[in-house]
Amino acid sequence: MAEKKKTTTKKTTAKKVEEKTTAATKAADKKVETKATTAKKSTAAKKTTAKKAVAETKVEEKPATTTKKAAAKKATKKATTAKKSTTKKATATKKATTKKAAPKKEEKPVVEEVATKKEEEVVVAPQVVEEVPAVDYGPRRSVAFIGSECYPFVKSGGLGDVMYALPKELAKQNCDVKVILPRYACIPQEYQDKMVYRGSFDMDLCADGRRYYVGIMEYVADGVVYDFIDNQEFFTEGNPYTNLIDDIPKFCYFGKAALAALLYMDWIPDVVHCHDWQAGLVPIYLREFFGNTALANTKSVLTIHNLRFQGIYNIETIQYWSGLPDYVFNKDCLTQNWVDANMLKGGLTYANMITTVSNTYAGEIQTPFFGENLDDHLRFHAGKLRGIVNGIDVDTWNPATDPRLDVHYSVDDAIAKKKESKAVLQEEVGLEKDDNKFVIGLISRLTNQKGLDLVNAIIPELVDGNTQIVVLGTGDDQYEDSFRYYENEYKGTVSSSIMYDETRAHKIYAGADALLVPSLFEPCGLTQLNAMRYGTVPIVRETGGLKDTVEPYNQFENTGNGFTFDRYEAGLLLDACNRAKTVFFTERDRWNEMVIRDMNKDVSWSKAAKQYKDMYLELTQR
Ligand code: ADP
Repeated sequence: MAEKKKTTTKKTTAKKVEEKTTAATKAADKKVETKATTAKKSTAAKKTTAKKAVAETKVEEKPATTTKKAAAKKATKKATTAKKSTTKKATATKKATTKKAAPKKEEKPVVEEVATKKEEEVVVAPQVVEEVPAVDYGPRRSVAFIGSECYPFVKSGGLGDVMYALPKELAKQNCDVKVILPRYACIPQEYQDKMVYRGSFDMDLCADGRRYYVGIMEYVADGVVYDFIDNQEFFTEGNPYTNLIDDIPKFCYFGKAALAALLYMDWIPDVVHCHDWQAGLVPIYLREFFGNTALANTKSVLTIHNLRFQGIYNIETIQYWSGLPDYVFNKDCLTQNWVDANMLKGGLTYANMITTVSNTYAGEIQTPFFGENLDDHLRFHAGKLRGIVNGIDVDTWNPATDPRLDVHYSVDDAIAKKKESKAVLQEEVGLEKDDNKFVIGLISRLTNQKGLDLVNAIIPELVDGNTQIVVLGTGDDQYEDSFRYYENEYKGTVSSSIMYDETRAHKIYAGADALLVPSLFEPCGLTQLNAMRYGTVPIVRETGGLKDTVEPYNQFENTGNGFTFDRYEAGLLLDACNRAKTVFFTERDRWNEMVIRDMNKDVSWSKAAKQYKDMYLELTQR
């Protein structure tokens, strides 16, 4: 939990740095230069250590692999076949490298290296038991997810949830799924211990031909194979995101290593599904560096989880670390504002399909207000852009079985049991214990995206003697401080937990009557989905995924799932809260019906995963 707090803060820091790119440029150049020199000196040493570590792991894993002799034989056979195609591949890589600056040491094409290593080192990993789908989900497709975070290994927000839950659901819908992630030092030891060494190789990366070690560690769960890219030079930091100076080289390396690892494992996916700017270079690498390999027919999808983060840095740095040719640094691809390169923008140009996490957000990001300076680029690529709304993992988020709750309930006893949950919550967070109070929850990163200025503006009017507010979040100082102030000002009525606490979040979803999500913009938003699953009525602003997932209450037809408002105005948020209170206090039967409607609403991944699967099929028609 403390880890999450750290990562959230780091993310905010990264964002700040991103905004100050120009100011940071000088320092960055200096750092890159220093890094390059020191790296040269230390790479050999580090590589030896890394290889030693991997070798140790390999020794430990040996007994498991020797039992699978037959499978190993098959793998060697595959490796030999792969070797046959080496000549072709090597020519391709040569072609690419001639465009670069002259390499300082003898440059071996990455693919050749991969194929050679394969014969020596391929270790057979645990097999995935293929589920036979009960429903017909169409032909099988293989998909490699490439992204920077994934629950339960490392999570700093919604992206981590999606990288976990969507592959799991796709595996059920007749997809063969691998998730490729960096092997961060912060991944909990229990998962590190379960990883199996799959092999390693060296890969050329930078414009001057510097080569880097790529190790592959594998872990299998729920029909999904997780492959972690191991490199101690890039991933020894405790957190996934530090600052752009370090993150740019890290993710330039990661994207290429992910593709090279697929080739090394001879696991050729139909689709590589890339997530956010950290995997933004993958669609470009795929075409520029892997176009003449077995990955030539692989299609790429790039999903935008939050357009605010784009991976922008000066052209020289990104060109150096990626080793990409001059011609991709043009205004229609990687270049932005003449001096900067934008990793997300380049990926959008090269991807076969772009998705974002709700239909409304897909439209919004094509406008200047939401477009974060990429609206024209997105309008240009609108033909391959679509919105698919997120779901949540309904096994993890289930009030009937949730191990983090003291009181469990389902639709059958929710009304009574939610009162008990409210009492537990009030006690835990220091609110006056009274089940007649209307309890409003807020679980959020504390940044200006989340509409907290509106919340701060209305708290004094909201606490009318019948209402309590419980806040959980970390983020910008100004919001952390204002919520602390309100807790102090309205003791027993407002409670602010300035922390990241998964268990407390679950207890708020269960014990609150309503949940506020008044975001300035919201690509999809997961908290309103969690809330509905727990029978807590969302009060949301009609933007992005909030608009797509919360149907406004209709008093004439007694339909809808929550209370909504449109313009970003404090008065309208207050009005929405007051409408909710009116129903709660004066028409409790109707309120209770809405609670049950929300709990019955399908917020699972199954519909969204089907849409992704259909898109993969559309991209890979045979
Ligand atoms: P974003 O990705 O923009 O942060 P989302 O609504 O997509 O927002 O996802 C937020 C996720 O993180 C939800 O699962 C929410 O419950 C969780 N979360 C956010 N803040 C906290 C916190 N302080 N403690 C525990 N969980 C949190």
